[in-house]
Amino acid sequence: MKNSDQETVVVIGGGPVGAMMATFLAKQGFKVTLYEKRADLRQHNLSAGRSINLALANRGIDALAKLGLMNQIRQLMIPMAGRMVHHPNGDTQFQAYGQQPHEVIYSISRTGLNQLLLNAAEATGKVGMHFNYQCQQVDWDNNQLVIQSMQTKADQCIRFDRLIGADGAGSIVRQALIDRCTGHDEYQPLGHSYKELTIPAGPDGQFQLTAEALHIWPRGGYMMIALPNQEGSFTVTLFLPNKGPNSFAILNSPEKVQRFFAEQFPDALPLLPSLCDEFFSNPTGHLGTVRCAPWHFQDKGILIGDAAHAIVPFHGQGMNCGFEDCAALASCVSQFHNWSDCFIEYNARRFLNGNAIADMAIENYVEMRDSVLDPHFLLKKTIGFR
Ligand code: FAD
Repeated sequence: MKNSDQETVVVIGGGPVGAMMATFLAKQGFKVTLYEKRADLRQHNLSAGRSINLALANRGIDALAKLGLMNQIRQLMIPMAGRMVHHPNGDTQFQAYGQQPHEVIYSISRTGLNQLLLNAAEATGKVGMHFNYQCQQVDWDNNQLVIQSMQTKADQCIRFDRLIGADGAGSIVRQALIDRCTGHDEYQPLGHSYKELTIPAGPDGQFQLTAEALHIWPRGGYMMIALPNQEGSFTVTLFLPNKGPNSFAILNSPEKVQRFFAEQFPDALPLLPSLCDEFFSNPTGHLGTVRCAPWHFQDKGILIGDAAHAIVPFHGQGMNCGFEDCAALASCVSQFHNWSDCFIEYNARRFLNGNAIADMAIENYVEMRDSVLDPHFLLKKTIGFR
């Protein structure tokens, strides 16, 4: 793209995808301004939102490698070579993701990864970052947006040439874009939610389960998983229906939670010393799929990451696909001489992929809950990431 130094590129959202996109564009010569509604998670003890850790896979790694970040990222990664299935009777069965040593996925801290990406953006010297600023409105006709300070509540008008919406599943930029071009925007709730719990490190800081695996307790209509953290703990995620038997609605007292775990997850129960405290103090996260079209408006604005395609987490691919979006958009920017062609090509390259992974993620929930218990499963399926 010509005249990169004269463009005002604004990124809304400093999550993993927004921070990565800002870095790609800065490395291509653009001056970027990023607005994030939360405080800077490098300076405040904030969770990065949603899961404590997540699965990083090849799609995401390819994009990180393009930015030359893998030496730093590698230090945060814990390899998981397969699934460790925990049966109701306490037996376990390891299912490798592949036959080759490189066929693994990695557990990584969401906060650690997000911090590293924000540092990478800042290190380019071309990204101005503004935390505690929330995008409120987009005026596409005048290339302006309204940004509000979360501290003073004062609004200011910001001009942009290009606007990149990386503001997650509840994206304001998506809302404004779809409204302006009378596009399609749909949120499909899954009807199941999740709760994070902790298996702490053992007395000597050791892992209390095999660290090199993604642990799954499949139970038919619901399931629990656990991913390792570097300091020896596991973050456990319980996925349950919102209503009906064995649902979040039913588990409304410590006695019921304790009994449910004793019956369904007897091998995990002794490893969860703060089960009831965490169950009733940690938030219940809702899950759903965002589908919208188009992902761009003229040559002015574009959506990436969850803002374009939030998916349910059962393929462990939401952020990985968002990273792939960034690499694809960066490649279109370097290939085309005008933004309109660039955005059209990005939309063409990514849209079908985004919808496909959304469908696969829902299918994989059923597979993880049910089929991994099927003795013929390994013959039927090779790698399903989670
Ligand atoms: P987000 O992470 O949502 O970041 C958006 C940012 O924009 C936030 O920082 C937010 O504060 C900011 N923002 C929002 N609105 C505004 C505004 N108006 N103005 C300014 N800033 C704004 N993916 C994987 O690849 N692997 C996994 O293992 C995995 N596990 C998951 C487990 C769970 C339980 C869940 C719920 C999701 C999981 N995902 C996983 C999906 C992953 O979390 C998302 O795909 C990823 O966070 C998307 O990144 P993002 O930067 O697009 O959006």
